[in-house]
Amino acid sequence: MTDSGRHSGIVYLVGAGPGDPGLITLRGVECLRRAQVVVYDYLANEQLLNHAPAAAELIYAGKIGGRHNQDQEEINALLVEKGLAGRIVVRLKGGDPFVFGRGGEECEALRAAGVPFEIVPGVTAAVGAAAYAGIPLTHRDYTASVTLVTGQEGKDKDDSSIDWQRLSLGNGTVVFYMGINTLRRNMDRLIEHGRSPQTPVALVRWGTTSGQQVLTGTLADIADRAETSAFKPPAVTIVGQVVNLRNKLRWFDSRTLFGRKILVTRAADQAGEFAALLAERGATAIECPTIRLVEPLDWAPLDSALAELSGYDWLVLTSGNAVRCFFQRLERLGLDARALGSCRVCAVGPRTAEAIRGHGIRPDLMPADYKAEGVLAEFAKMKLNNKKVLFPRADLARELVPRELERMGARVDSPVAYRNILPDKLPAEALFALEKRSVDCITFTSSSTVQNLANMLGGDQMLDMLKGVAVASIGPITSKTCRALGLKVDIEPPHYTLAALTDAIDAFFSHQ
Ligand code: SAH
Repeated sequence: MTDSGRHSGIVYLVGAGPGDPGLITLRGVECLRRAQVVVYDYLANEQLLNHAPAAAELIYAGKIGGRHNQDQEEINALLVEKGLAGRIVVRLKGGDPFVFGRGGEECEALRAAGVPFEIVPGVTAAVGAAAYAGIPLTHRDYTASVTLVTGQEGKDKDDSSIDWQRLSLGNGTVVFYMGINTLRRNMDRLIEHGRSPQTPVALVRWGTTSGQQVLTGTLADIADRAETSAFKPPAVTIVGQVVNLRNKLRWFDSRTLFGRKILVTRAADQAGEFAALLAERGATAIECPTIRLVEPLDWAPLDSALAELSGYDWLVLTSGNAVRCFFQRLERLGLDARALGSCRVCAVGPRTAEAIRGHGIRPDLMPADYKAEGVLAEFAKMKLNNKKVLFPRADLARELVPRELERMGARVDSPVAYRNILPDKLPAEALFALEKRSVDCITFTSSSTVQNLANMLGGDQMLDMLKGVAVASIGPITSKTCRALGLKVDIEPPHYTLAALTDAIDAFFSHQ
């Protein structure tokens, strides 16, 4: 906007939730989507930054223990400066901005400077961690109140403003934030003021994330237990009878794949869906793309097929990539699905079929066996003589489909719709996990994912790095490539889908 008088910035104080990136609010995501500047904390999950536009300026305002005051003033000044400069700013804060988040101070600074702001609440750590630990903060049979307390209050002074007497009497649940370093003192205070030393206590570290750790005990012994196990912040301390309900209600950190690290070798733009499936079982998916999808070297073959699309009898699509690239190019040429006319469409499996339906087309054919051989078996039942078939494919795809269809009498065009190439390097996080031998399982969803990993690491080094790592392959072709490279395949699902692969990995680890 050129009229700077009307162009005022705004600061959204957005609660990022406690860790699980699914726990941010819709409003929070909306704000991130339009952000020009994002100022984020160390407690806010960095994955949430993916909601921000690529061009947004990302500023890390992490503050880890200690030195808060000065940093806070700097952060306030930064928010004011960006707001006055007319920017749309998201201040992304762990949990809820107004619960031990110093959001109040940030707002005061903004108000004083005349910068408009909006507060988007978030799931605060006590609520998130308790839920994911299976501990109801209130329960009709045990307690009718819950108090959120800072564990830092009066750390350097004796005149704590907390009314320990009231906190200790009765059976209300108490949740301490920032209370791990002061754990012993705070537990002792509750006992001194009248809480039973046998009151159950749970410490929940990195609640709601795949790194969640829970340590339970009583007011009398939790500090010793925490010391013995070198329990570290950030964690909340939950005190009250409700903690015992965890034995019955635990659900998150008891999932079969909880705490398992699984490498996903799919192309970066496709890994997300698989990672989400694995995360639902509690696993940490580490993206390690060994493939990058790029345009064909020459568009001409595909373009001329697209120009005469309605002249084909069948369009055969055997992957989500083929669907995506096919329709993208169609659109680029100014066409849409109507160009297909009466050409029928075959999908290799349910996921491909779903992708096709996303373009308004109901596939005419899907084999029972979701792979190239299944497609051929279906076509073998028809009269293909002189039928025209279009099979857009990857540059390195197997020649099986076009060759066999031609043998059945079809006239097949198989233009390259995309190429699979090697990425420049593997992500640092994946290499680090492999080197630290902390990976439990690696997944291969196509032959090229395995072949490329071997090319990138060197065959011998790959075998060495994958020692003790379970190998999961999506199907027999991929498994064959694994074996040819010297890898033993531990997991292969009966169907060639990501859902079935996830089930197979789950089954493998539940038997361990
Ligand atoms: N505004 C935040 C709290 C910030 S204070 C909120 O509403 O949650 C920082 C403290 O929050 C940490 O010391 C820890 O006690 C708690 N905390 C934040 N994230 C946590 C998590 N994922 N698991 C357990 N405790 C967490």
